[in-house]
Amino acid sequence: MRDEAEKDTLSRRGFLGVSSAALAAAGMRSMGDLAGPKQSDYKQGSDRSKSDPGPTNPAMDAANLDSFNPPPTDAGGVQTFKYPFSISHKRLHEGGWSREVTQRELAVSKTLAGVDMRLTAGGVRELHWHTAAEWAFMLYGTARITCIDADGKSFVTDVKESDLWFFPPGIPHSIQGLGPDGCEFILVFDDGNFSEYETVLLSDWMAHTPPEVVAKNFGVNQKALANMPKKELFIFQTDVPGPLEQDRRVAGGALGPSPIDFAFRTMQFPPTKSNKSGEVRIIDAKSFKVSTTSAAIVTVKPGAVRELHWHPNADEWQYFISGKGRMTVFATGGRARTMDFETGDVGYVQKTLPHYVENTGTTDLKFLEMFKSSYYQDLALSEWLSHTPPELVAAHLHLDKATLDAMPREKPLIMPE
Ligand code: MN
Ligand code: MN
Repeated sequence: MRDEAEKDTLSRRGFLGVSSAALAAAGMRSMGDLAGPKQSDYKQGSDRSKSDPGPTNPAMDAANLDSFNPPPTDAGGVQTFKYPFSISHKRLHEGGWSREVTQRELAVSKTLAGVDMRLTAGGVRELHWHTAAEWAFMLYGTARITCIDADGKSFVTDVKESDLWFFPPGIPHSIQGLGPDGCEFILVFDDGNFSEYETVLLSDWMAHTPPEVVAKNFGVNQKALANMPKKELFIFQTDVPGPLEQDRRVAGGALGPSPIDFAFRTMQFPPTKSNKSGEVRIIDAKSFKVSTTSAAIVTVKPGAVRELHWHPNADEWQYFISGKGRMTVFATGGRARTMDFETGDVGYVQKTLPHYVENTGTTDLKFLEMFKSSYYQDLALSEWLSHTPPELVAAHLHLDKATLDAMPREKPLIMPE
C-alpha cells in the first residue's frame, strides 16, 4: 500500500510539474494518463472536441477529473453538491480556529451545515448555545466537553478520536482541547443556514447587558465585574484543565451529574456491516439516545463502491475524512452529475435522489453520511430489484435469469461482498 501511495504522490508531482501550455499541446488527455487509470484507455490527442487549448488550472482539473472530463452518462444541469473546507474562510484565534460550510457556501445544503474546528491544548470554544442541534465527530486528539441538561444537571466528559457528542438546541456547552496537542473535530448543525458567527456566547451576552444589572443579578459588587471582556471571546487560550473527576464533582454540585449521556464512544461498538470491501457504522437514536441527527461512518476499500442507493427520509450531508472517491447524483429527467471528493470536502445529496460513492484512490476512502433525522434510513437498488418479481425486472432491464440471480439479495452496502 505504501508503494501505491508513493506512486500516486509521484505521478501527481509529475503532473503538477507539467505546465498548462505543455498539457494543452499534448492534448489534455495526458492529464488523465498521469492522474489515474480511469482515463488510461484514452489515446493522446485522439479527441479534438475535448481538448482545452486555452488557459487552464491543471491542479484543479486534476483533482476534479469527473468535471474536467465527465463520464458520458452525465447529462443536464444538476445543482453543485461539493464544497471543500480548504476554500472556506478560516477564523483564526489565539487557542484555535474554525471554518464553516453552510448554505451560503453550498447552496444545495439546506438542512445541514458543517464546521471544522481546531483547538490547541487548553484552547476553549467558549461557553455558548445555539438554535440548531450540534452533532460532532472527533477527527484528532482529545477534548473535554461540558454542558448542563434541561434540568440544570451537569455533564462533563473527555472525548478522543472517533467519539461523538450531541447537544440539543438551547443546551449550553463548551469544548476545550486537552494535552498533548488539543483536538480537531467536525460539527454538523441541523440547519443549512447555521453560522458559528451567530451563537449565544457567554462573554458576548455579558458585554451587552448593563453592568449594574449583571451586578444585581449575581448579588455582587459592580466593581468586581470591571475586568469582564468587552466583546466576545469565541475561541481563547487558557490552561489545560485538571482531572476529569474533579471537574465532574465540582460542576455536579448538590444536583449531581446528568443522567443523560451526551457523548458516544463509536469504537466501543462493532460495525453495523462489514465485508472485504469496507465497513459501515450506523449511529442514530436507537443507540445514541439523545441525538436527533443520524449518521453513517463509512469506509470503502480501494476499487470498491458504496452501492447505488437513496434515502427516503432525509437529505445527506457528507464530510470526506480521507482517501479519494467520486459520486454521481441522478436527479431525474435524464439529469446526472459526477463529482470527485477528497479529504476535507463536503458533499450533499437531496432526499430520495439516487447515488453511489466509489473509491477511485489507492487508500481507504472514509467519510461521514449525516441526516437531519433521529433514525437512519436507506434503500438500495439491489434490495429493490431482488425483492420485486424477477420477470418484471427482466422485462425492464433486458437481463437474463443468471444475471438477476447473481445480484445481492440482502443489501451489502459496499460491493464487492
Ligand atoms: Mn456549539
Ligand atoms: Mn447515501
